[in-house]
Amino acid sequence: MGLFDVFKRKPATTHPASAAAGEPQEAADATLAKGLSKTRTSLVERITRAVAGKSTVDDDVLDELEAALLQADVGVETTVRIIKGLKARVARERLLHAGDLDRLLREEITSILMPNRQAASEDTIASGPKPYVLLVVGVNGVGKTTTIGKLAHQFTQQGLRVLLGAGDTFRAAAVEQLRIWSQRTGADFVDKGMGADPAAVAYAALDEGIKRGADLVIIDTAGRLHNKVHLMNELSKVRRSLSKLIPDAPHEVLLVLDGSTGQNAIQQAIEFSKATQVTALALTKLDGTAKGGVVIGISDRLQIPVRYIGVGEGIDDLQAFDPEAYITHLLGK
Ligand code: GDP
Ligand code: MG
Repeated sequence: MGLFDVFKRKPATTHPASAAAGEPQEAADATLAKGLSKTRTSLVERITRAVAGKSTVDDDVLDELEAALLQADVGVETTVRIIKGLKARVARERLLHAGDLDRLLREEITSILMPNRQAASEDTIASGPKPYVLLVVGVNGVGKTTTIGKLAHQFTQQGLRVLLGAGDTFRAAAVEQLRIWSQRTGADFVDKGMGADPAAVAYAALDEGIKRGADLVIIDTAGRLHNKVHLMNELSKVRRSLSKLIPDAPHEVLLVLDGSTGQNAIQQAIEFSKATQVTALALTKLDGTAKGGVVIGISDRLQIPVRYIGVGEGIDDLQAFDPEAYITHLLGK
């Protein structure tokens, strides 16, 4: 059984990540609802206004919907795709009732998010390597270290042995921040101080993880995107040193993106996936942003599954991404 199977064992209707961390289902739901409330309010308001007094879905309604999706930061290309899909259905089903718009929109968004969910590399994850090696990448400030801390918390809570490797050696504070998370969560910790070679840290961390029988080794990195070639070289070096110890490590490369930066996040995802093979995404800071539609754009533009969403700064504020729950809280019940 793979490490991430602890998520899959739970019924699909729960938010396993939060539930696993001891947060009741209702609390996780409320957190997500609150996080998406700004996006939902503006989206639903505009749609309601657009269909008010209309009996059928006409061009005016679709234009207004298009503007609403753009405002929610779904992104131009994905919005155009959704509107096109809706237009085709309106043409096919004739005189579609304005009241049907909500259902159609949900279906269109579902069709974007669902294929990605299936692509959630069940095989790689379920094959059960031990230790499972997770490499975390992303630009500075997006929430990498915090996400690592939240993950460490969830997995140590489940009785797994977790080791954190301080591969962001660019700033002294970064090493300390990760050390604090290791202390908070009871995870093991390996660092070589500031300025050390990240690849050497990754090697030492995995080496130690193997010796201690860790279930999960998570490697933090410094995401300096100022120069793509440099980033590419640095990440390749880290990967190479991990694979010296375990040939197929890292088993997952998690790209962390700041959801509140909207279209910037999509741009970063495109850049990073050119620099290294990214296998999963975490979208942070979805609490309190009006740009929550970015999840749809990212799923559409990149064929990489969104695995986690960050909905706050707290230790329990990380949820396994559930497309159905997301749509429900984005568009209301
Ligand atoms: P890193 O540079 O990528 O490692 O980013 P950090 O983990 O240091 O996080 C940068 C800031 O973002 C910190 O103040 C975090 O508390 C905050 N942060 C991270 N995730 C979230 C989230 O999901 N929601 C909110 N509101 N803040 C977050
Ligand atoms: Mg960091």
